[in-house]
Order: sequence, then C-alpha cells, then structure tokens
Amino acid sequence: MATERTLSIIKPDATRRNLTGKINARFEEAGLRIVAQKRVRLTKEQAEGFYAVHAERSFFPELVAFMVSGPVVVQVLEGEGAVAKNREIMGATNPANAAPGTIRADFAESVEANSVHGSDSLENAKIEIAFFFSQCEIAG
Ligand code: UDP
Repeated sequence: MATERTLSIIKPDATRRNLTGKINARFEEAGLRIVAQKRVRLTKEQAEGFYAVHAERSFFPELVAFMVSGPVVVQVLEGEGAVAKNREIMGATNPANAAPGTIRADFAESVEANSVHGSDSLENAKIEIAFFFSQCEIAG
C-alpha cells in the first residue's frame, strides 16, 4: 500500500481534557508519523469553511460552536494507507458504536464531542491538508 498523508484534528473536548499526548501516542503506535502539527483556535469562518459539506445538516450550528469552543490541534499524519488506518483507529462517529480500543470509544464524550477528526478519503485529505498547512510546514 502506498504512503499517504491524512488530516487529523484533535477537537476541543480532547484538548480541554489534556489528551493530546495520549491521542498522539495512538497514532504513533499504529505506525502513523506526525509530520505537521499546530495548536490553534479556529475562527467561526474557518470552522464553517472546513465543515461546509455539512452546512445543511441540523447539527451544523452546534458543530461550528463546538469547534470554536476551545483550541484544536491540527496535524498531518503520514504512513502506509494513512487515510483508512486513521479512520480505523479513530472509530465510528458515534462513540456508542465505536469499536473497543479506538480513540473515540476510549475518549469521546458524545457524537458531537468525539475527540478527533480524520479525512475520509485521499481526495479530501489533500483538500483538508491544504486548508490548514502550506507545503513548507510539512516535514515528512
Ligand atoms: N456530528 C454531530 N452530530 C451528528 C453527526 C456528526 O455533531 O449527528 C459531528 C461530529 O463531531 C462529527 C462531525 O460532525 O465528527 C462530522 O460528521 P461526519 O459524519 O463527517 O463524521 P466523521 O467523519 O467525523 O466520523
């Protein structure tokens, strides 16, 4: 399988509980390398832009409010089949449905405050990485 890059976000519920290191350990133990990382506070416009695909969903206003409620850690993960591998170790969107041992099963508070974001396809990974990082900020 090819080496890929995927965008990850450690969400405000996880930064609030000081879980960045524990979550990063999950990525590294799974063979994913953190090749870019920054802790930022998203603006409302950035959160709306990032989740624009969900703009018509009923949960959109609450999701945007949640994503700006505290700092997030945006990061680029690199490794063999990184997009699918990250989705696997994240677990299902709703932590009630997430497989045991996944990040969301172990750390998420709710379907909204579910601790992590991960790109869902290689195509979206490229778009999402470019949303947050310039080429010179990524060191593979
Ligand atoms: N979300 C929510 N309510 C829902 C579904 C999703 O608040 O009923 C939030 C949740 O934080 C989720 C994000 O919207 O991670 C994006 O949803 P998506 O279906 O893309 O899930 P993901 O790819 O993050 O698993």
